[in-house]
Amino acid sequence: MDTLQPNRKVALAFFAHPDDAEFLCAGTLIRLSDAGWEVHIATATAGDCGTMTLPAEEISAIRRQEASSAAKLINATYHCLEEFDVQVVFDKATNRKTIDLFRRIAPSVVFTHPRYDYMIDHEQVHQLARSAAFSYSIPNASSFPLVEGSQVPWLYYCDAMEGIDPYTGNPIRPPVCVDTTAEMQRKIEMLACHASQREWLREHHGMDEYIEAMKRHSSIRGQQHGVEHAEAFALHAGHPFPQADLLGQLLGRE
Ligand SMILES: [Zn+2]
Repeated sequence: MDTLQPNRKVALAFFAHPDDAEFLCAGTLIRLSDAGWEVHIATATAGDCGTMTLPAEEISAIRRQEASSAAKLINATYHCLEEFDVQVVFDKATNRKTIDLFRRIAPSVVFTHPRYDYMIDHEQVHQLARSAAFSYSIPNASSFPLVEGSQVPWLYYCDAMEGIDPYTGNPIRPPVCVDTTAEMQRKIEMLACHASQREWLREHHGMDEYIEAMKRHSSIRGQQHGVEHAEAFALHAGHPFPQADLLGQLLGRE
């Protein structure tokens, strides 16, 4: 039976790389945080390939710090599974780590990548998130204690890179829309925390392309829903996940 009441006001954004959450759903996370939700941002990797010049350990340390700083702006907590870029795999060990992470956080709402996206790391994290969302509240699924209120969460899939299905080239239209117009400045501040990624693009393009790309996409989603800026999501529709759109109920501005 479906319910529109989350057991816990805890949201987890679980993505492949540092900065994915800031691009894809930071506006919505800001709104949840403002509404009194506890917010967690987790990544599979520390972003060890996000550099042309630095050794892996050095860039990873920088990017963990950047991700923590972005999370702190909305009183969120940052977690890293310490996997490696371009090597994220849905295997037994990583599945275990992901279920344990979900078990400890016990989210009622989860955000992650869509099934099809431009990078395999994203698609593997999609599977990890789906598996952990399904199983973390099953008593024997993890050796960590079961937090009271643990449940099969609302599972939201964020946009694909540039809103494109990479197998067809066709645009996708995730049906759920959250108006993030008023959160735009804070979303930019969160994304700007990822200075290591922003700088080389700024030098290369002669403009703040990192920020501009995010604004362009949120503006496209906004236009499709009659607002200035928006983030788009698809709600997982399989048994036994909650089927009614919680974000619309919590964050609708109509
Ligand atoms: Zn990514």
